[in-house]
Amino acid sequence: MAKTDIEIAHEVTPLPITEVAQNAGLSPDLLDLYGNTKAKINVAALKDKPARGKLILVTAINPTPAGEGKTTTSVGLADALAAEGHKTMLCLREPSLGPVFGMKGGAAGGGYAQVIPMEDINLHFTGDFHAIGAANNLCAAMLDNHIKQGNLCNIDPRRIVWKRCVDMNDRQLRHVVDGLGGVANGVPREDGFDITVASEVMACLCLASDIADLKARLARMVVAYTYDREPVTVADIQAQGALCALLVDALKPNLVQTLEHTPALVHGGPFANIAHGCNSLQATLTALKLADYVVTEAGFGADLGAEKFVDIVCRQAQIAPNAVVLVATIRALKYNAGVAKTDLGRENCVALEAGLPNLERHVHNIQQVFGLPVVVALNVFASDTPAEIATLTQLCQQRGIELVTCEAWAQGNAGARELARSVVALCDKRDATSSGADAAATSDTAATPSAHLRYAYNLDESIEQKIIDLATKVYHADGVTFTPVAQKQLKQLTDQGFASLPICMAKTQYSFSDDPTALGAPDNFTITVRQLKPAAGAGFIVVYTGDIMTMPGLPKVPAAINIDVTDDGTITGLF
Ligand code: ADP
Ligand code: MG
Repeated sequence: MAKTDIEIAHEVTPLPITEVAQNAGLSPDLLDLYGNTKAKINVAALKDKPARGKLILVTAINPTPAGEGKTTTSVGLADALAAEGHKTMLCLREPSLGPVFGMKGGAAGGGYAQVIPMEDINLHFTGDFHAIGAANNLCAAMLDNHIKQGNLCNIDPRRIVWKRCVDMNDRQLRHVVDGLGGVANGVPREDGFDITVASEVMACLCLASDIADLKARLARMVVAYTYDREPVTVADIQAQGALCALLVDALKPNLVQTLEHTPALVHGGPFANIAHGCNSLQATLTALKLADYVVTEAGFGADLGAEKFVDIVCRQAQIAPNAVVLVATIRALKYNAGVAKTDLGRENCVALEAGLPNLERHVHNIQQVFGLPVVVALNVFASDTPAEIATLTQLCQQRGIELVTCEAWAQGNAGARELARSVVALCDKRDATSSGADAAATSDTAATPSAHLRYAYNLDESIEQKIIDLATKVYHADGVTFTPVAQKQLKQLTDQGFASLPICMAKTQYSFSDDPTALGAPDNFTITVRQLKPAAGAGFIVVYTGDIMTMPGLPKVPAAINIDVTDDGTITGLF
């Protein structure tokens, strides 16, 4: 029987984290040690160091519900780049306890492409998510206390938009009534919980450039509206200082290693629908200062993850990917052709071809909309047949799409060497074209984005136009329908001064459209915008195309049922 992820992880003795740090160019005085295998990096000391690395963004075609292996491919690619002799660093999101105990299991890669110590990373790690939850809940406590103590800000308790949070899939808490028990026990109201990764505090932390910027973002977060419908912010209830105090350590990126000892920064983990779905900017910028190649992953498919990475993260930080890796799987291509989930393991070359337009559209977007070079990484599963792999290779060749197979899950770096060489070649090719345009130009790095990167919309457009640009260019929709509620909110947000923010689309990850059953490359559809909310601290407007679950539930057989611990404290069953 194949070994489980945790069995594979336990076979490797991690290097002392000080050694991993040293190999990455980090002296001991820059580390806060969390045991022998984890450390936080004091990034403030690196402030004046220039970013020099090349940035590789790993994204994917529209997935099956099981995930297509972006994290696994990212780990394998980083290990392969390191094995090819390049100074490499990997940046990933921290897993949330919700999915760990729910459906998906751990999120630290898989097979022979993992970050370790995987049980720490998947469970409490360095306490970042607990700190974020505490900050979120301090804000909630101060808000309700403000109302109870006389409500100087004139907050309408029916218009509180701030929820409490917990890092758990717990649908029981989606809607609650609290403040019960009479005058001494608060003001009764309808309330609810989100999962911690959906808290705006998480998004603020992941986009903050330093402590001052984090505090300013926290201060701007809208928590409620007054009886006159004016926004009430964290600054109005004077909570930003205390919230920020809870987050000082959480803001520092966490250094760990892959199974092959490549340095990895695993830090932050915002939702990919109501937030931007990428690891912290602190981690990515730190890695770009230390390494020649930096591999980072964006959540969901490229229509959401890569788009937000470019339009929100890269635009804010003035960085750009030098190359994009689009992860595809045989099973996801079949799924995009409409094959039932239960039949995905069966050879079906016809369906493979029928699902290909999904991949083609993502390739088109990355190249034509964002102006970035792309290579498709076929993440090979044991159930893929030689005929299917040959068919896909040929189909891509015919269409001029570069595809390489990646077997990092089964083989570690050895399974991703060709991918690594393709990525390096893509970066070098881009260098050659940029220095052609400007004889004085030196090597193109992530820190010099302007040459090629294009955004899907301009910030100075109206909110409405930004959404239309995004929907028509990236989703290939015919247009956008705004419900009457959304139309009203467009005007309100503009009046309140939020019009210059980028937008963060909350949409299904299964389709280019807002209909999760419209697979492949749907045409002749419009996107319906139902609601808009300001995430003024994160610095974007969340655009809802449907109901987005911000507090997931556990499935019938949660992963938690198979997780256990031996008498000596060894954790088992964590995938
Ligand atoms: P994503 O980051 O796209 O959500 P992950 O890398 O987390 O995907 O992979 C999802 C799940 O699939 C994980 O449990 C991982 O171990 C597993 N997986 C990924 N690639 C393979 C593969 N080639 N063969 C078998 N299992 C895989
Ligand atoms: Mg992932």
